[in-house]
Amino acid sequence: MYRRGSSAFPLFPHVPPRRRAIRKIAKLAEVDLKRIRIKIVKGTKGTGFKGYTRNRRCIELYEDAFSSAEDLANTLGHERRHVEDLRSAGVDRFMNSLQVIESEQVARIAGEEARQRYIQNCMRGGR
Ligand SMILES: [Zn+2]
Repeated sequence: MYRRGSSAFPLFPHVPPRRRAIRKIAKLAEVDLKRIRIKIVKGTKGTGFKGYTRNRRCIELYEDAFSSAEDLANTLGHERRHVEDLRSAGVDRFMNSLQVIESEQVARIAGEEARQRYIQNCMRGGR
C-alpha cells in the first residue's frame, strides 16, 4: 500500500522494468492490459523511445519508458489506446496515414488522462 509522504511512496519514482511493476502502475492508471503482451525491449536506454504498439495484442516498452511512474502510466494509456483503435478497425496495422494521425491524437489525450488518474489514485493512497 502506498502512502503519500512516507518513504515507501515517492510520488514520481523510477520504475523497475518488470512486469509486476508495470501491472501495478497500469492498475493505478486504470489502464486495462488484459490480453495484451508487454514486451520490454532491452538495450534502448537513451534513445528517447518509450512505447510502441506492435499489434492488437502486443505493446513494446523501451527502457526510457521507466524513467518515472507517472510517465510510464502515460505511455501505457497512450499505447493501450492504439490497441483499442486497431481492435475497432479489426487490423494489426493502420491502413493509411490518416488513421495513424487520428489514432495519435486520441492516444496523446488518453496517455495524459492515464497519467492524471495514476497520480490521483496514488494520492488517495492506492487501491
Ligand atoms: Zn502513439
